[in-house]
Amino acid sequence: MGNCEKELYVVCDKEDESEVEKALMEQYWTIDPKNEKKFLYSIRDIEKRLEVPKSTLLVLARHNYRVTGSHPRFTCIVCKERLFVKNRGSYRKAFAKPKCEKCLALEKAKKIREEELRLAESARLKEEELAERSRIIKAFEKEFLQSDYSINDLSYIEAVFVFLWLSDKELSSEEVQLISKRTFELVTGVVELDELIIRSLVSKGFILEIGEERMLELRNSGVLYSLDINYGHYLKICREYLNMHDFCSGLYEKFCSRSVTLNDIDEIRSSVELIRISNLYGVVSWLESEHRIEIRKNTKLDGLLKNLSCRFSLLQCTQIMFWKAKEVAAYIHSKRPDYYAVPNLFTSFIDSHLIKFDAYNWEQKYTKMPKYTETTAFEALVCDQFFETEYNWFQLTTGEVLSRWVGSLNVLEESCDSK
Ligand SMILES: [Zn+2]
Repeated sequence: MGNCEKELYVVCDKEDESEVEKALMEQYWTIDPKNEKKFLYSIRDIEKRLEVPKSTLLVLARHNYRVTGSHPRFTCIVCKERLFVKNRGSYRKAFAKPKCEKCLALEKAKKIREEELRLAESARLKEEELAERSRIIKAFEKEFLQSDYSINDLSYIEAVFVFLWLSDKELSSEEVQLISKRTFELVTGVVELDELIIRSLVSKGFILEIGEERMLELRNSGVLYSLDINYGHYLKICREYLNMHDFCSGLYEKFCSRSVTLNDIDEIRSSVELIRISNLYGVVSWLESEHRIEIRKNTKLDGLLKNLSCRFSLLQCTQIMFWKAKEVAAYIHSKRPDYYAVPNLFTSFIDSHLIKFDAYNWEQKYTKMPKYTETTAFEALVCDQFFETEYNWFQLTTGEVLSRWVGSLNVLEESCDSK
């Protein structure tokens, strides 16, 4: 028996303690002389030696006995009260941190109180953060997503553009004002024209453009996490209208009113020309791959395409260009021209064709459908309102498109600039 064991006092709280019980407890609390943290007999040993089931042994120890000692580990480090342990686990715990149950309970209560305070504080901070974020969002919405613009500030083409932009959106809920993102689909069918109009709408404050710089600002302000916003163009909410449905109706009214300024006429003309030239460049790309020829895009080609588009319909232009491309391919095959001359052949062939066409007073009878052209929403809308039979501009020259469209508009005295 080591010194350690002598320091343990087993106190029995049971009045009628039996000899067997006494022996059981003595064995249960016998410390290993070599290691004071261990016990000499395992519960299984005691079970076997004294033929007492483990459960009986443990119940007895926990309910009827307390153990203490003279060592400092049996003094509570907080209140200095004597410390009793009731099982081996508590005995081992007393080595690390001797604390009485009362002090442990106080410590636990203190921890709970601190945790409650911490949670309350973090909830308060969270609330403050949310309030701050909602303030930032409101400010952002007011400053960037809403505008005092009026339909009257839009040019005729711009009004048509915004109307088409919104026409494929869900506008059924009349109460809802929405900020509308431009989808990947082109509104006019021509990249350059879409971009031209969008740039003007951005400068007029109708459209919010979110690029690299604005994105960084939004990310830093925390707005991004709360708003469904990404790179791109957004049509701002118009404060003048109660909802997008009313706004859309206003746009359509402007379109149907047929009242335009001289500025509007210029814009309509350049838009129609741009659309047609873009169609013809589409035909050029198709012919390059169709006839395996290279066609140089330069100002001469640009001028010839403009000329073609003024004199012939899209289908007639396509027919002329198709045959000239075919001739170019045959010429390259038979004559083997110098490689540097090849990209200019198409333009030269078109040029000489037009000269002969005028000289001999030819008539362009045949037409051909371009491979990648389809009726855009823009063309369809204009045809629907201003043209009698056509549903697209394929059969018309740019001049015919303009005379039918512009011819049925009423030009107002004042121009956009004088407003
Ligand atoms: Zn204590």
